[in-house]
Amino acid sequence: MQFLFPAYKRFYIRGRDDEGNLIFACKYVTEEGLCSVYDKRLSMCKKYPSNHILYPAKMHEGCGYRVEGKRFKDFL
Ligand code: SF4
Repeated sequence: MQFLFPAYKRFYIRGRDDEGNLIFACKYVTEEGLCSVYDKRLSMCKKYPSNHILYPAKMHEGCGYRVEGKRFKDFL
């Protein structure tokens, strides 16, 4: 994904949760928890917290998000 969309190189895998899901972090978060590239943040960052994710994926039962079928490229 980072090869196709270089803007996503800001994200890295920080670990896994108890269920084995990947946990991602952003290298632009400051120690104070602020965005160091606020004016250049991604569209998904600007929309946060959105009530839906535009990416084909299976959500966990009971998750408050829902999935809509769109191409990943559409929200870059
Ligand atoms: S708002 Fe900034 S720090 Fe947070 S994920 Fe987006 S780019 Fe990274």
